Amino acid sequence: MKMPFKKGFRVASPFGYRTDPITGAAGSWHGGVDLVGNDRNVRAVTDGYVLRSRKVEDTGNGDRTWEWGNYVSVMGDDGRICFYCHLESRNVESYDRVTAGTVIGIEGSTGRSTGIHLHFEVRDPAGKQLDPCAYLKIPNRAGYEWDPPEPWEAEAHDWSREAVEWAVSRGILKGKGGDNYALGDFVTREELCVMLYRAREVL
Ligand SMILES: [Zn+2]
Repeated sequence: MKMPFKKGFRVASPFGYRTDPITGAAGSWHGGVDLVGNDRNVRAVTDGYVLRSRKVEDTGNGDRTWEWGNYVSVMGDDGRICFYCHLESRNVESYDRVTAGTVIGIEGSTGRSTGIHLHFEVRDPAGKQLDPCAYLKIPNRAGYEWDPPEPWEAEAHDWSREAVEWAVSRGILKGKGGDNYALGDFVTREELCVMLYRAREVL
């Protein structure tokens, strides 16, 4: 399980009954949660297959682009279907294989939307809407902000903490994808050489 925004996000509108943001009607059902990302890369939260990748002008086949705008739905390997809605653009096509963290589109405001955000919805195979915040293990509360943990805070053992913080602060530990590494990763001989080379430069 990964978060839909790697660099963090804010809960703009929770799952459940709320005042409709467009009509102002009280007690209208909100079947997902609205998230505003700290960046606009929307990522798959689980491994799975793209069920639908729809453009806003598509009609028919029961799609809901009038409401959801450009959207992507993913059938996760855990049997949950996640909907990523109001996208500015889509990076995947129907039946594509995705892994947790794959950028599936760019956050936008297409469809029935009042500003740039991600409408994130989770369903079981029967189509029942589930609490997407429980699924992400975050509070279902407007204003909640999720920030990514620093890698060494999340993973480092006490015996390695000082060394890891030193290596991180001097840029020695950076991986091919920048700061995107896990402390348990194996390193190849090439990567070890790069790390030694960087260490030599700062010593
Ligand atoms: Zn929404």
